[in-house]
Amino acid sequence: MSEFVSGRHFLQTPGPTNLPERVLRAMDRNAINHRGPEFGALGREVIEKLRHVFQTAGIIGIFPASGTGAWESALVNTLAPGDRILISRTGQFSHLWEQMARRLGLDVATLETDWRRGADAAAMQGVLDQDREHRIKAVCAVHSETSTSCMTDIPAVRAAIDRASHPALLFVDAISSLGCADYRHDEWGVDVTIAGTQKGLMVPPGLSFTAISEKALAAARGGGSARSYWDWAPLVTANQTGFFPYTPAINLLFALNEALTMLAEEGLPTVFARHARYAHATRLAAAAWGLELQCADPAAYAPGVTAIRTPDGHSADRLRDVILERFNMSLGNGLGRLDDRVFRIGHMGDLGVLTFTGTLTGVEMGLRAAGIPHREGGVQAAMNFLAGEGTAA
Ligand SMILES: *Cc1c(COP(=O)(O)O)cnc(C)c1O
Repeated sequence: MSEFVSGRHFLQTPGPTNLPERVLRAMDRNAINHRGPEFGALGREVIEKLRHVFQTAGIIGIFPASGTGAWESALVNTLAPGDRILISRTGQFSHLWEQMARRLGLDVATLETDWRRGADAAAMQGVLDQDREHRIKAVCAVHSETSTSCMTDIPAVRAAIDRASHPALLFVDAISSLGCADYRHDEWGVDVTIAGTQKGLMVPPGLSFTAISEKALAAARGGGSARSYWDWAPLVTANQTGFFPYTPAINLLFALNEALTMLAEEGLPTVFARHARYAHATRLAAAAWGLELQCADPAAYAPGVTAIRTPDGHSADRLRDVILERFNMSLGNGLGRLDDRVFRIGHMGDLGVLTFTGTLTGVEMGLRAAGIPHREGGVQAAMNFLAGEGTAA
C-alpha cells in the first residue's frame, strides 16, 4: 500500500466518531485562563446545554477522563467496599464495569444474558424482591451496549426497582446513547447517568460526565469510598460558578460547547429520528445481504451502532482489514466473547446521508472483496428506504 491515500478516511467506529468541521474550528484556538471570567461563562453555558441533552435540572459533573473514569466516579462516590450491587452483563461494557466494581472491593451480583438483548427487568426485580434486607445498594445498567448494539429499557428497570419497593440507586451508562436516543435522566428516575464525548456528542475523546440525582448526592455526602480526584463535593459549587477545582480540558470544552449548540440547532427529536433512520437502513442492508444481526430482539435495536455477525467460519476481523486496506474505512471490531465474530457499523454522531450510504457501500464491497458469502443489494435496500420520507420502524 502506498503511504498516501486520497480522500477522507471513513471513521465508522461506534466511538470515536467523526468530528464536524464546526467542532474542529471551535477548538483550534489558544487556551484561556481557566480562572478568568471568560472561562466561568463557558463552564456555565456548557453545563446548561448538557442539562438539555441529559434532560435533567440537576448537577452534572464533567471530568477530563474517558467514560471509564465517570464509571469510577459513580461507584466511589456512592458505594463503599463490601457494598453489594446488581449488574446485568449484557455485553463487554457491562462486563468491564462489573470488573471495575470488583476491583474497587464491591460485592457484585451479576445477571447473565446471551449478549443478544437488553437487560431483563423482570429478572432484576426477582433479585431485588429476594433482597429483603436491602443489601443491594445500586443497580447498574448499560443503556446502549455498544458491543452488541442492544438497548436496555431504562424505564422498565426503574419500574422493576419500584415494584420491588427497593431503595437501591440506579446507575445508567448512556455513553453511546446520549445524543443518539431519547434519554430522560430526571423523568426516568435515574440516580447517576454516565456519558462521554466521543460517541453521539461529536467531540474528541477525553471528557466524561455524570448527571447526579439528589438521592445520589446525599449518598455521596454520607459515605462512599476513599476518593479525591473523583470526589463530587466540589461539583455543586462548580455547576453554579462554571469553574473547576483543577485545570479543565479547556479546548475540549470549546469543542463540546459548539457540538451542543449544533445538537440544539438540529433539535433533539430530529437528531434521534436521523439516528433511527440510519439504524433501520443498516438493518435493511444486513437483511438483504443475508447476514444476521447480533441483536436478536427487535425491540432492543440500538440507534447508533449495528453489530453484524459474519457467517460461521468467516473472520469478521479479516473483513475489517480488507475494508480498511482497500476502502480506507474503519469499522468497530467484536469485543470480548464476540471477538472476530461481529463487525460493528457506527452510524452515530455527525453523519450525512451520503457519508452513511458510502459507509454501507464500503461494507458491501468489502464483503465481496473478502469472499464472505452474502447476497447483493444491501446498499440498494438502504437507498430505497432513505430516498423515501419514511420513518424508521
Ligand atoms: C465506549 C463505551 C465505554 C467506555 O468508554 P471509554 O471512553 O472508552 O472509557 C463504556 N460504555 C459504553 C456503553 C461505551 O460505548
